[in-house]
Amino acid sequence: MSEFENNTPPAEGGPPAEGAPSAEPGLGGISDADIQTNWDEAIETFDAMSLPEDLLRGIYAYGFEKPSAIQQRAVKPSMLGRDLIAQAQSGTGKTATFAIGTLAKLDVSLKECQSLILAPTRELAQQIQKVVIALGDYMSIIVHACVGGTAVRDDIRTLQSGVHVVVGTPGRVHDMINRRALRLDSIRQFFLDEADEMLSRGFKDQIYDIFKFLPESVQVCLFSATMPLDVLEVTQRFMRDPVRILVKKDELTLEGIKQFYIAVEREEWKLDTLCDLYETLTITQAIIYCNTRRKVDWLQEHMQQRDFTVSCMHGDMDQRERDIIMREFRSGSSRVLITTDLLARGIDVQQVSLVINFDLPTNRENYIHRIGRSGRFGRKGVAINFLTEGDVRYLRDIEQFYNTQIEEMPMNVADLI
Ligand code: ADP
Repeated sequence: MSEFENNTPPAEGGPPAEGAPSAEPGLGGISDADIQTNWDEAIETFDAMSLPEDLLRGIYAYGFEKPSAIQQRAVKPSMLGRDLIAQAQSGTGKTATFAIGTLAKLDVSLKECQSLILAPTRELAQQIQKVVIALGDYMSIIVHACVGGTAVRDDIRTLQSGVHVVVGTPGRVHDMINRRALRLDSIRQFFLDEADEMLSRGFKDQIYDIFKFLPESVQVCLFSATMPLDVLEVTQRFMRDPVRILVKKDELTLEGIKQFYIAVEREEWKLDTLCDLYETLTITQAIIYCNTRRKVDWLQEHMQQRDFTVSCMHGDMDQRERDIIMREFRSGSSRVLITTDLLARGIDVQQVSLVINFDLPTNRENYIHRIGRSGRFGRKGVAINFLTEGDVRYLRDIEQFYNTQIEEMPMNVADLI
């Protein structure tokens, strides 16, 4: 399975059971200095970043006026060709950071792939591709999304006809390298979005396989809202004196996102609770997270039986269906999306102001990624966690880990959205 979901079947007669948040990794062979930010320079305007004129035009035309904190800090080292580990809260503009970092260095006259950007899911890769294309609107560049679930032959043809940037998922990119369709000789930059996810579990070997084909001088840049210590430790094996811009985990909880719990007590009562909240869900748009694909299907079916309109998406669905669901949700024509951790990371739909953890996430990192789907770029956001009796200690664990307080949901929650 290439995408990060688990697929535990439901227990007899009820919705599926959940796991516990994972434990924090130990410090291992990493020193204190290796987990400190070592780059403080902030450039407060796009004008002062020495960007090519046509890129600057693209940035303003896209509607950005002032760089966000991470953009102020991380664009420059990425333009300087430095290896980079850049961490910043969800929704604070990391995508544009590496999009600008890569567009600024492109030699447009050379129609060869100069920058390879990898992301863990197809939806995220496609979203990144759109941002790179939009910011590079005045640069005449070709940006290809190289993702699974599409026709291999089309991919080969596009790559052979020449592209400047490839944004892809590891499996398909690896395949294109093996088929010699994606030439790597001119690649100068290698970006990993959601880097901690990419360097752990299922993806790690594929990433290393791709990495070892890249030119030795390639610049490596990692981005994520979460950078667990074990990942920082792994980076020491392949990064050269990286610039590090890091956030302490207790500063990571998103300021603008109000977090609540509802004590549903029993698993069987979650469905009724969700139905009671339906009006609140549709005030703007909402994402509901379950821990398994089976449960997503189960919940959608039961909501629909009760005449509530909801869409759902997970990794068992074919790509065409996934694309349609995503398009409808982005356009706002569907307002409530039930999904798995497949869409926990990176997905940017500005109208999402409510996230419901129908199930608590099974790892602590994904808690922050999930709730970060709301409150994009400083907007208002609310996260509601459904708690069974057994979940209480896991919520306490999350509160402690992020040094935050998650209170019982107030009656006037709709006013906060
Ligand atoms: P992250 O990757 O950090 O989670 P994104 O890159 O998806 O965040 O950005 C979140 C939202 O903020 C996007 O809708 C993006 O268009 C917007 N955004 C990013 N940078 C700026 C900026 N400098 N000014 C205004 N909006 C921005």
